[in-house]
Amino acid sequence: MTGRQRIAVIAGDGIGTEVMPEGVRVLRAAADVFGLSLEFTEFDFASAEYYERHGDMLPEDWFETLSAFDAIYFGAVGWPDRVPDHISLWGSLLKFRRGFDQYVNLRPCRLMPGIPSPLAGREPGDIDFYVVRENTEGEYSSVGGIMFEGTDREVVLQETVMSRTGVDRILDFAFELADRRPARHLTSATKSNGISITMPWWDSRVREAGRRFPEVRLDQYHIDILTANFVLHPDRFDVVVASNLFGDILSDLGPACTGTIGVAPSANINPSREFPSLFEPVHGSAPDIAGRGIANPIGQIWSGAMMLEHLGHEDAAAAVVSAIEAVLAKGARRSPLTPDIGGTGTTAELGAAIAEELGASA
Ligand code: ATP
Ligand code: MG
Repeated sequence: MTGRQRIAVIAGDGIGTEVMPEGVRVLRAAADVFGLSLEFTEFDFASAEYYERHGDMLPEDWFETLSAFDAIYFGAVGWPDRVPDHISLWGSLLKFRRGFDQYVNLRPCRLMPGIPSPLAGREPGDIDFYVVRENTEGEYSSVGGIMFEGTDREVVLQETVMSRTGVDRILDFAFELADRRPARHLTSATKSNGISITMPWWDSRVREAGRRFPEVRLDQYHIDILTANFVLHPDRFDVVVASNLFGDILSDLGPACTGTIGVAPSANINPSREFPSLFEPVHGSAPDIAGRGIANPIGQIWSGAMMLEHLGHEDAAAAVVSAIEAVLAKGARRSPLTPDIGGTGTTAELGAAIAEELGASA
């Protein structure tokens, strides 16, 4: 057993505050079963309420405060009627991402039992892959500008910035992840036939990195045909790595192929462990259903499993995912599934059922 691990809990806004208690409930159950020492500390910043009281999303010393933690467990941020989206996002999550150098965005795309895939005929087991997105550079640079603005001669340009350090480190993460999985298969997405400088260079870095991982089978796709294959042949993928823009697109398309947004988890990782990594559901604060106790807590709970894995508790992480699967597999007649997945259960009932399943499996 490792020593005590400290987790910063930031529930945020809307349904974030409803699904977070269920995430913590299941993590506490996992800690009981596996004898882990996890300490949870709650923070009220990164929320609309905090912004209304303080005029800012975060306290000035957020960096020092959160640096002391082993991981950040995050709910959802944003409430457009109360805080403009660019303020809530740029003032919280994106500060964490930059400040803590969370250069990996990781999203599992796994079809769970009882969750209908929009792809006809797909069963659990058919779709089970990861999207690894480069999270700090690439196409999302602010380098560029508008010339002759406001005239008929207007010309707009915006640069892509890729560095050897930045690309090699994301490729290493993706290869290492692929190397740990049974299929040992990595797919890299670029567009080298259209974007003629950065993308062929990325391709060459991929081949170079591949020499360090001889056991991993490497495929290189163009992004257009890759997106078609996500939909037509999702069973062909194991780990998929891409630049910031392409990864952004794939990391929405992938979870969409596996059903409802309420179950999808994600992680923003600093692999060097110099800074805390952040674990959050893919969904947002969903003001339309907030306050009704019907939000699906599975995305939050599954993100907690990813956090356990990152903290070195692979068995506990696998047990949480199995408990989610077992509860889903029983269907809406025997499990309190939330309305988005065809049941009449509440957020708290579904969270409790998963925690109970986890305890019973011990
Ligand atoms: P963001 O601005 O971050 O995209 P959002 O508040 O627009 O977030 P999304 O997460 O994009 O909300 O979700 C879109 C819709 O899907 C929500 O309005 C809600 O109806 C539904 N939804 C999202 N998450 C859940 C959930 N956990 N359980 C049930 N329904 C959900
Ligand atoms: Mg949205």
